[in-house]
Amino acid sequence: MSNKVYPMNTGMIRLNKGVYITGGHGYDQEVEVPTNAFLVLADGKKVLVDTGMSETKKADWHHPGSYQPDGYRIDQRLAELGVAPEEIDAVIFTHLHWDHCANMKLFTKAEFWVHATELAFALDPHILYYKSYDSEKLGVQAPFKGVDFHTVDGEYQFSPSITMFPTPGHCPGHQSVAVETDGGTVVIAGDAVFADENMEPDPKRGLAFTPMGRFVNIFDLYDSMEKILARGDIVLTSHGTGVYDQKVWP
Ligand SMILES: [Zn+2]
Repeated sequence: MSNKVYPMNTGMIRLNKGVYITGGHGYDQEVEVPTNAFLVLADGKKVLVDTGMSETKKADWHHPGSYQPDGYRIDQRLAELGVAPEEIDAVIFTHLHWDHCANMKLFTKAEFWVHATELAFALDPHILYYKSYDSEKLGVQAPFKGVDFHTVDGEYQFSPSITMFPTPGHCPGHQSVAVETDGGTVVIAGDAVFADENMEPDPKRGLAFTPMGRFVNIFDLYDSMEKILARGDIVLTSHGTGVYDQKVWP
C-alpha cells in the first residue's frame, strides 16, 4: 500500500494557551505553535490536507506576534518534497479558518473539498467569527472567495485509502481525514485535536483527554475528539509539534 503523510509547518501562531489549547488552565501562558498542513500520497494521488497559514502581515493582524518565516509558504514547503503546486490533485480542507486555507489559489489544477456546513458558515459567518474567516465586512478578502468547491455532507470516501469524516465543535463544519497506511489508520485531525496536550488526560475534569478552549459547541467537540482518538492509530494535529517526530508517517 505504502501510503504516506508528510507534515509541513507553514508558520508560527502566538496564542494564549488557556484560551486556545488547554481550556481551563494555562491562561497565564503565551505560546507559539506551528500551523501544520499535510501532503498525502495515496492511491496514486497527491492530496493536500489544508494549505496552511498566510504571510506575516495577515498573520500578525489575526494573532499579534504570529509570523511566516521565509520558506514556510505552502508551495515552498512542497518544493522541498519535490512537488509543484500544479501536481496537486485535490485539497481537502478540515475547515476554512484563515490559518488553514491561505494561498489555496496556487493549486490551479486541484479540486477543493470541504464540508457543506463549513462552506456555508465561512461565506456568511456569525459576527463573532468574522475575523477567523477573513470576512469582507472587516475589509479583507478570504482565500476561498470566488472558489468552486466540492462539498460533502457526512462521512465520505474520497478514494480507497482516504476518508473524510465530520468532526464538528471547533467550528460548525469541521472534518478530519483518515488515511489507511501500512502502519494503520493515520487521522489528520485538524483543529479538532488542536495540539499534543489535547491528547493528554485532564485530571482536573476527570477526562481521558483535554478538549481545547476554542469551540462553537463543546459537546460536539468532545464527541469529535473521542471519535478521532478511537479511529486513529496515529493522530496528527494542526498545531502540535509531535507531528515532526517523524518526517513522514507512518
Ligand atoms: Zn487552526
